Amino acid sequence: MKEKILVSACLLGKNCKYDGTNNYNKKIEEYLKDYDVILVCPEEMGGLSTPRIPSEIKGDKVIGKNGIDVTAEYKKGAQAVLDIVNKYGIKKAILKSRSPSCGKDMVYDGTFSHKLIKGNGITAKLLIENKVEVISSDNIV
Ligand code: SF4
Repeated sequence: MKEKILVSACLLGKNCKYDGTNNYNKKIEEYLKDYDVILVCPEEMGGLSTPRIPSEIKGDKVIGKNGIDVTAEYKKGAQAVLDIVNKYGIKKAILKSRSPSCGKDMVYDGTFSHKLIKGNGITAKLLIENKVEVISSDNIV
């Protein structure tokens, strides 16, 4: 039986990115050929629509470019992803870099000016806290 792995859905071509497009990555698709892949989009799972206003992490909140606080939706999506992890005993995830949900190690700084700072997205952080090995999509080469 193949090992289950959690993957940001936009990386395999699902149009769930904030602007209604995706982040398809052929190398990641090839990397995943020996895994049983479970796709998730925590922002959609938290109840946000696609397309949606882009958001960034600011302190301990997630704020939309329109100034609206969407922290609750981001947390709800992260919890829904963790529920899937627990249900299937998933130990590994490949998540999209720099996203306020999925990013690992680096995220945008909350000023919407393309500046990166150290930090994890809301879902990535929750999975790491729950002992899931989270790999940034940037590190699949
Ligand atoms: Fe992709 Fe994650 Fe953003 Fe959804 S929340 S579009 S899966 S980076």
